[in-house]
Amino acid sequence: MKMGRPPRPVVNGMTRCPSCSEMKTLADFPKNRWQPMGIASACKSCANAKKRATRAANPEKAHAEYRKQYDTHRDAWLARSKKWHARRKGATISPVDYARILVRDGMVCYLCHKAVAPKQLSYDHVVPLSRGGTHSEDNLKVTHRSCNSRKNAMPLEQYLRRIAA
Ligand SMILES: [Zn+2]
Ligand SMILES: [Zn+2]
Repeated sequence: MKMGRPPRPVVNGMTRCPSCSEMKTLADFPKNRWQPMGIASACKSCANAKKRATRAANPEKAHAEYRKQYDTHRDAWLARSKKWHARRKGATISPVDYARILVRDGMVCYLCHKAVAPKQLSYDHVVPLSRGGTHSEDNLKVTHRSCNSRKNAMPLEQYLRRIAA
């Protein structure tokens, strides 16, 4: 009868990587649903180091494997890349009339709801471009320069939660 390995001890959400002997959080281990705890034995950095070493020892095999992966997932990858490019293109060509945004919003910051002096005037992408927001009038609102830089690329809900805390 084959015996499974005993479950590894977890202390404060940390467990030891047998490969580098360091205590790491469970998120630092690759997922592996065949293992008793759903994580691989060695931590991510050990697994990556091992993968790198295997690749270096046999680059042709690694290339063939990558090629196989590529052939299998090509359509999905191409579709994703196309979508990304389309979004980038949309982000740059959509015309934005800042005067129209000013008329719509007034000189009032949408983050702190206070009046904005012309020197402090800035426009924020409500949904950050890095999170799929568009550079369009719908997604731009009047803010203080200072509020804008404080919010940075955070999604709005996260920012509001943070200033409410
Ligand atoms: Zn390790
Ligand atoms: Zn403000």
